[in-house]
Amino acid sequence: MMSALLAPAGTRPTWVEVELDAVVHNFRVARQAAGASALFPVVKANAYGLGALPVARALAAAGADGFCVAMVEEARPLREAGITHPLVILSGFLPGVEQAVIELNLQPVLFEMEAARALSRRCGERAAPVLVHVKVDTGMGRMGFPRAKISAVLEELRSLPGIRVASILSHLARGDELAGEESLRQAERLEGAGDATLPRSLANSAGLLGHACTRLAWSRPGIMLYGASPFFPGRTWREDGLRPVVRWLTRVVAVREVEAGTPLGYGHDFVTRRASRIGVLPVGYADGYSRCMQGRAQVLIDGLRAPVVGRISMDLTLVDLTDHAGAGIGALVTLLGEQGEGFIGIEEMAEWMGTIPYEVLCRLGARVPRRHLSSGV
Ligand SMILES: *Cc1c(COP(=O)(O)O)cnc(C)c1O
Repeated sequence: MMSALLAPAGTRPTWVEVELDAVVHNFRVARQAAGASALFPVVKANAYGLGALPVARALAAAGADGFCVAMVEEARPLREAGITHPLVILSGFLPGVEQAVIELNLQPVLFEMEAARALSRRCGERAAPVLVHVKVDTGMGRMGFPRAKISAVLEELRSLPGIRVASILSHLARGDELAGEESLRQAERLEGAGDATLPRSLANSAGLLGHACTRLAWSRPGIMLYGASPFFPGRTWREDGLRPVVRWLTRVVAVREVEAGTPLGYGHDFVTRRASRIGVLPVGYADGYSRCMQGRAQVLIDGLRAPVVGRISMDLTLVDLTDHAGAGIGALVTLLGEQGEGFIGIEEMAEWMGTIPYEVLCRLGARVPRRHLSSGV
């Protein structure tokens, strides 16, 4: 991996690098696992914080069959940037955006009949029907038509002009469990729901990597493309054959020499136990460097770990550089990713935060510039 010596001119010295070649590698792992299942990578939430458009472009070139986003607002910039693939809207829409669904040629997931009727009314006499996917609740208990109603739902949908059911889909509730009994039950329920001739979709990353029974007509990989195992903490990216995608970098902006017994930062939570060199990093919880990591977080400097000390504040974080004599102002600091022999993964940061890798990525702040690296192959 290469990394510029300096942050790009005119941007702050805290930035995220996204290795598009690694995203493409991870997509190929998904492709291998998917067999005949078509792949619609999930680029919702700005591709889990990494940049929906560059990620979608790289995956389009790598052979993605379509893309999934959560909402119409996420689909619009992709369409406007020239992505012509099928775009599935996973999380529905409220009345008022039917026109946008039609104009942008989106494929909404339906889990509620009134939305279908409203869409149909808008479609009017259009020649090409809007393709829709019907969500059935097979065990998540969140959204989706109840299984008992699915035949009646499909019948009514067939009677509505202007829309056509493209597939039936459902979502795994316990896909992250390697054992997979519940995923198998959900797959069986989905197979049994409604018209057997309609294509089905169930697999997310966990389904693709761990539960063969979920690899149906089309699949929706997300987190695996971004370099984290869906089975964390049971498994990490290494065991799943994935490549890390993200490096989060910053630079030391100030260094202070302090006596033993010096309280540092808000609340004086940390008091030095020895004479110390304390570095200041221009990154904080406003950037997604979570305050919850106090007492656990570490960074890499010269390939070696240095502990974060005191409270993480909105824009600044302190690190103990006492054992890093060479690290002065401007020293490159890795918050996530590899540096020399050292590596800090999204999974480890998730542990420090008390959350899952998904949230580490989604919380990367909007004000942190993303740089997309690609060898162009
Ligand atoms: C987010 C999402 C996915 C992707 O899940 P991963 O665990 O990130 O692979 C798939 N399907 C639906 C319905 C989703 O909301």
